Amino acid sequence: MNLDRLVRKCISNLSPYSTARDEYKGEIGVYLDANESPFDNGYNRYPDPYQIELKKVIGEIKNIEIENIFLGNGSDEAIVLMYNIFCEPRIDEVVIIKPSYGMYTVAARTNDVEYNEVALNADFQLDTELILSTVTDKTKVIFLCSPNNPSGNLLRREDIYSILNGFEGIVVVDEAYIDFCAESTMLHELHDFPNLVILQTMSKAWGLAGLRLGMAFASKEIIDLMTKVKYPYNINCATQQIAIEELTTKRAEKLREVEMILSERTRVIEALSKIEFIEHIYPTDANFVLIKTANATALYNELIGEKIIVRDRSGVFACGDTLRITIGKKEENDKLINYLINRGEN
Ligand SMILES: *Cc1c(COP(=O)(O)O)cnc(C)c1O
Repeated sequence: MNLDRLVRKCISNLSPYSTARDEYKGEIGVYLDANESPFDNGYNRYPDPYQIELKKVIGEIKNIEIENIFLGNGSDEAIVLMYNIFCEPRIDEVVIIKPSYGMYTVAARTNDVEYNEVALNADFQLDTELILSTVTDKTKVIFLCSPNNPSGNLLRREDIYSILNGFEGIVVVDEAYIDFCAESTMLHELHDFPNLVILQTMSKAWGLAGLRLGMAFASKEIIDLMTKVKYPYNINCATQQIAIEELTTKRAEKLREVEMILSERTRVIEALSKIEFIEHIYPTDANFVLIKTANATALYNELIGEKIIVRDRSGVFACGDTLRITIGKKEENDKLINYLINRGEN
């Protein structure tokens, strides 16, 4: 892969903003260089623009070098950077699967980049031939999502390989839900695929959606470009500190919570499968399950009346009359199940 060919000229030529912390990297001293307040309240200093301490912790957990890690204000920042770095507005294109996560198309539109949506097949798997035949010489990025949102399934690995091998641009594999099927990550295949960008997040299994911390993993060359283009202080001090603490002290707890969610998922699916008006329960590898039912939007509104909030996905491509249900705590899931059982009986 020729990375230079893919990168926008304005980005190759960019000298990034140089922070005060770039020019002086020592630890101890009298800091009169960044126009900060000298009065210590825990947050008066700018954060580390490269998040080195946090990356060390993540690198150790994921068994990956720091140079292959980018941290963003949610995964959304990494998605937007793919457009900033690779896609010349109104010239370049991306390929996106449908149905999938809405941010890939929103970021295409806000960046004025043409996107070609390719439908997944009836099993919500990749139609690799159709995807590769949709690629033009302007296509810079293909976005894949595995496990996919809102369908919940892992994409077949062989198909992802076909895309990676058959496309001369960047392939993003969004693994936001990978902690619910940990063995399926592609993290350890980065060295085989210089065009692979993997997205993960602290928002789901790690339970830190409110902190806004997303991760991208890729070759050093791609990570360097992302670091060059991002806002200098994109991860604030509080997020860096809390994430380090959570990642070092809550590893066992997170695994236990994932186990609980997975056993609840089995229980919820079993209960839902006995309810007659639920027409289909889609296979899931994530912490949610997509169901198909008659008049899904009416059911969605009924559930809101019971103060049970699920996601109506009926308006999404190939998801007519579907609801996406996040697996909650036992008592939360019970509330949903009991309502649906009683409704079915009446
Ligand atoms: C939830 C989710 C994310 C995570 O987004 P953050 O900005 O990190 O909270 C990313 N991709 C997909 C497909 C998701 O469903």
